Amino acid sequence: MTYRGRFAPSPTGPLHFGSLVAALGSWLRARALNGTWLVRVEDLDPPREVPGATADILATLAAFGMESDEPIVFQSQRIAAYNAAFQRLCDAGHVFACACSRVDLEPLGGLHRHACVAPADTSRACAWRLRAPDLTISFDDLTLGRQAQNLGSDVGDFVIKRLEGWYAYQLAVVVDDAFQGITEIVRGADLLDSTPRQIHLQRLLGFATPAYLHLPLVVDATGQKLSKQDHARPVGRGEPISALRAALAFLGQDTRGVPASIDALLAAGIANFNLACLTRASWPNRRHEPN
Ligand code: GLU
Repeated sequence: MTYRGRFAPSPTGPLHFGSLVAALGSWLRARALNGTWLVRVEDLDPPREVPGATADILATLAAFGMESDEPIVFQSQRIAAYNAAFQRLCDAGHVFACACSRVDLEPLGGLHRHACVAPADTSRACAWRLRAPDLTISFDDLTLGRQAQNLGSDVGDFVIKRLEGWYAYQLAVVVDDAFQGITEIVRGADLLDSTPRQIHLQRLLGFATPAYLHLPLVVDATGQKLSKQDHARPVGRGEPISALRAALAFLGQDTRGVPASIDALLAAGIANFNLACLTRASWPNRRHEPN
């Protein structure tokens, strides 16, 4: 089977160092295995989107020598596919309408389990949740090894269509990874916790489960994840060499002696990319402090 990987940014701001690492890790892995690398823009959350962010992210990726091998998929244009998947899940009895708010669920540790707690006569708008069975989903992550999570007790019934009418990330990502024939998902470890939900949805919808490789998460000096919402410093397109060296170093590669060109750094990155660099043991030492 031909390897197909992807990078799936949300256009909530410019690319920051953490998303550069995720993009580069997925790109190197695909190139090292002579596979295909795709970009999918996850523009499914209009209130969080920043105008111009999509163009900015794509231009930054291009400046780093990373371009999608096939036409870019935009989630905002895939609503019909999400409608169809949602309908199948509804028809099979896995989905229910729910008016419970975060505040309603606070006394239950934030988990929705079985019965709704919002008053039945509520006039509040509804979200749509997938029933989380008492089922442990396990998978072997390529860097982290065996992972397991009980959907019922660890996650609870989860939203697949939001009350504003938009589809939730968990459903859209599963539909699109299947649509694009993704064989392995390389992404940051912040999404590790979402993986069992996605595997469950893949099984309900009859999709193949890809392999998973979660990358060390880039954190700041206080141990917090860097995120676009926190205004982590954007990666500058003007000086890609130093950012690329830093991202390769973060992925466990020594680029001393590699000439200061994008092509040379990427070629060395492909040649030296290996899973041993990414083992869990080295994770706690990896820090990136944005200036
Ligand atoms: N769009 C998600 C993000 O930017 C990533 C989704 C994924 O890689 O599964 O965090």
